Amino acid sequence: MWKLIKNAKLYCPELIPDTDVLIVGKSIAAIGQNLRLPDYVSGEVVDVNGQRLVPGFIDAHVHICGGGGEAGPASRTPEIQLSQLTWGGTTTVVGCLGTDSVSRSMSELLVKARALEDEGITTFVYSGGYQVPARTLLPSLQQDLTLIEKVIGAGEIAISDHRSAQPQIAELERLAAEARVGGMLGGKAGVVHLHLGEGKRGLQLIWTILNQTEIPISQFMPTHINRTSALLDQGIEFLRAGGHIDLTAGCDDFPAELQVPAVLQMLNERQILNDRVSVTSDGNGSMPQYNEAGVLIGMGVGSVEVLWRDVRESVINYGLPLEVALRTITSNVANVLCLKNKGRIQVGYDADLVLLDEVLQVQAVWARGKCMVENKQTKVWGTYEKRSRS
Ligand code: ZN
Repeated sequence: MWKLIKNAKLYCPELIPDTDVLIVGKSIAAIGQNLRLPDYVSGEVVDVNGQRLVPGFIDAHVHICGGGGEAGPASRTPEIQLSQLTWGGTTTVVGCLGTDSVSRSMSELLVKARALEDEGITTFVYSGGYQVPARTLLPSLQQDLTLIEKVIGAGEIAISDHRSAQPQIAELERLAAEARVGGMLGGKAGVVHLHLGEGKRGLQLIWTILNQTEIPISQFMPTHINRTSALLDQGIEFLRAGGHIDLTAGCDDFPAELQVPAVLQMLNERQILNDRVSVTSDGNGSMPQYNEAGVLIGMGVGSVEVLWRDVRESVINYGLPLEVALRTITSNVANVLCLKNKGRIQVGYDADLVLLDEVLQVQAVWARGKCMVENKQTKVWGTYEKRSRS
């Protein structure tokens, strides 16, 4: 029940050097110097000797129940396993469907999210998939947001992509309106998490909606903004106008200047790396590769481990301060998705913590107070996992 982490260099994400963190149950009970466990409790004391302790990572875009399918049935990706997430430092995940909402369903997504939660991490889902009208659990998106606890927004709705439903402006307007009101009624962000493809229209559809309706810019969370340089330019414009942009990690086949470390550095240099920029992994989805004619030429599966790999890289090789880089996968994500008690190391918040070693590799992970990874070894496995990762 009680755990005391001593002598940490704390990144809340703001830096507090040399401090202790007291965990009681699933929450952070105290932060300060020279904390002690009360005499009347027996608990665990862990001395981390000045290592960096950071908030558990929030990955707001993962195909947890599998995705893919763009190259036929054999290209459907498998379900994610618990240790794939925790090993990379992720303690909160938002699951989504992708191109395939025929052989994949919202029921599957919701139950997989509940399974991961039972196994120890925190989970949410977006209602929908690429298609418009959105594939929802209840008859409407508004009902999903209002009545189903884990549903926090709509997504990933595809626009400007050859795989999208080519939604009309009016359809997207209605969807955004449903997300907005459903979010209000459910006490959630109700964001519309938009998958952006390589299409030349880019963010134009969102601008049209913003210009001709009362829906605010904060309702939208466009992702894959670093897909092309033209889209990134539009994303910067969207960010400057007060919008939130989400970058996708692990795009190793992209030019270096479009990969997350370089993009974060560029945004920081231009002084626009604010609290409305996030990074997600697009993990466990398929990574289809198309040629210029739109013909599929290869397939891969996205890893969730690229989330920290890329953000870490921005610190190690691109000179970003750790406290700035961290925000893109912790507090900024909690802000845009209105996740209560998440994304910060703060009294009363969930005890989701990651301990980093001297070279910023994940050393240990606690999810709601429970140790999931210790000394770079998985401690808690998913129900059907092979006990092989270390
Ligand atoms: Zn996508």
